[in-house]
Amino acid sequence: MRRVIIAGAGAAGLSAAIWAKRLGLEPVIMERSTKAGGQLATYSLPVVDLPGFGPGTAQQLVEHLVGQVRDLAIPIQYESEVAAWDGRRLYVSSSDVPVDADWLFYAPGLKARTLHAPGEQWISQASVSALAGERPGLQLLIAGAGDRAVEGAIRLVEAGHQVTLASRSPRIRARGSYRQRLIESGAAILFETTIARIEPHPKGKVGAWLRSPHGDILWTGDQILARIGMEPRVHPELASVRGDIAYPRVLGMSIIGDAALPAWERSLVSAFASSMRAVKESSKRMDGR
Ligand SMILES: Cc1cc2nc3c(=O)[nH]c(=O)nc-3n(C[C@H](O)[C@H](O)[C@H](O)COP(=O)(O)OP(=O)(O)OC[C@H]3O[C@@H](n4cnc5c(N)ncnc54)[C@H](O)[C@@H]3O)c2cc1C
Repeated sequence: MRRVIIAGAGAAGLSAAIWAKRLGLEPVIMERSTKAGGQLATYSLPVVDLPGFGPGTAQQLVEHLVGQVRDLAIPIQYESEVAAWDGRRLYVSSSDVPVDADWLFYAPGLKARTLHAPGEQWISQASVSALAGERPGLQLLIAGAGDRAVEGAIRLVEAGHQVTLASRSPRIRARGSYRQRLIESGAAILFETTIARIEPHPKGKVGAWLRSPHGDILWTGDQILARIGMEPRVHPELASVRGDIAYPRVLGMSIIGDAALPAWERSLVSAFASSMRAVKESSKRMDGR
């Protein structure tokens, strides 16, 4: 039986494993972190735009997918980061011994973009979940206007914090249902505003110089979060990124999920579809090898 390795246990990786098993392959999932779900494991609002699912949370969807993977007896190895692949052998961070395989499905997902502003080191590395658990009343600035920024803003306002959202564009890009909830939440929204510089302030506070067509203003508060978009999280030995999309560096592998998709197409439906397409295509190519 042909053994295929799936790097990443997000929506794309989990569904690729299910497809691979159905097509008679022997899939093994390797996940760099300690749990499955990828981005799904990070969001708290209900899953939308997934026909046939819901109402339900992202956590319920992860449990459902992981349950299917378990029922099919597909192994998931956690804390195993796939770092290199030569078309036949795979190198994993957790072991010195290479793993033989017939194909690699690389589903690494995305990582956060950075601001590239002076003082970037003062950007908070805290997660929204961690901040939501802190004593209410924090003054927080979030840079961004997409789903992650807006979801974070809504959640932090609901946790009792004072949130300002700085959007570089003149509109909020997040999906309609998030936009409505943001407006109702009472978060302050600054349009056409970028963070020009960040600096520490006395008593543990932090300041951000905000630039807009109306001039510069200084915001001061407790923490600044950057949620300005995502880009493929690729290992340089495995893939290169051009125009925001990851491409394989080695033969005998397919990149699936968000990393292989343009920003407008990144979604659960597309993650599932790209997995199905890649598994079916590669299964034919393996037969021809
Ligand atoms: C706040 C938020 C809300 C969203 N809401 C919706 C929604 O309602 N509807 C919708 O359709 N979409 C939504 N999305 C988008 C959707 O979640 C993503 O499109 C989808 O989860 C992408 O799945 P993925 O498997 O490609 O990547 P990810 O979910 O990012 O998974 C990648 C996994 O790969 C692992 N990994 C990375 N590199 C390696 C390596 N070298 N070796 C091993 N493992 C590795 C990572 O640890 C991670 O677990 C939302 C996203 C966010 C952030």
